[in-house]
Amino acid sequence: MEEKDKPKKHQRDDTTQPLVLPGIHRYQFFSNLKDRALTKNLNRLCMLGIGTALTMDVVKPLLNADPQTIYCYECRACYATQDKCPAAIPFQAELVVASRVLDYNRFIRNGGLNCVRCGGCQNFCVQHLELPRIFGTMQLKTMTAVQDGTVAKPVIIKALKDGLINREFINDVAKFVGA
Ligand code: SF4
Ligand code: SF4
Repeated sequence: MEEKDKPKKHQRDDTTQPLVLPGIHRYQFFSNLKDRALTKNLNRLCMLGIGTALTMDVVKPLLNADPQTIYCYECRACYATQDKCPAAIPFQAELVVASRVLDYNRFIRNGGLNCVRCGGCQNFCVQHLELPRIFGTMQLKTMTAVQDGTVAKPVIIKALKDGLINREFINDVAKFVGA
């Protein structure tokens, strides 16, 4: 091996690593970080971003939302509710995630204001989350957000057109949009 091809100090000899793609050795990207200051810092920034996002995922429900939503795996096992949901809500996990991050638009879009809190989906939750309670709490918060003007009118109007708001909330919602 010529002198210039020899690995520097702290540098892994990539040629000893198995090929994963033509010309690319496994670990190559991570192995020579000491010679790639920018890459190293980008990696750190990415890890910081991921760490912050994960922390916010936990902190936000603890501060504002329902802490139980943290335990949702997002496994989608609750989708097995299917026609047992009287409100024909197909994606209960979306409602849980929306409740976790207080995403009112997502909650409305997925039929959260149509839920009658019957508990049918709770039997399918592998984490035994109290889904009707979680959805009921989020419904109240969503209605407050609607009245505060936090939710954009076009979102509400579309939900009304799509039949995503049940009789419990429809009068208040209609009043807000002047329908
Ligand atoms: S609690 Fe709501 S989402 Fe779950 S089955 Fe009943 S109506 Fe559907
Ligand atoms: S089954 Fe339970 S844990 Fe899994 S996605 Fe649905 S609510 Fe979350």
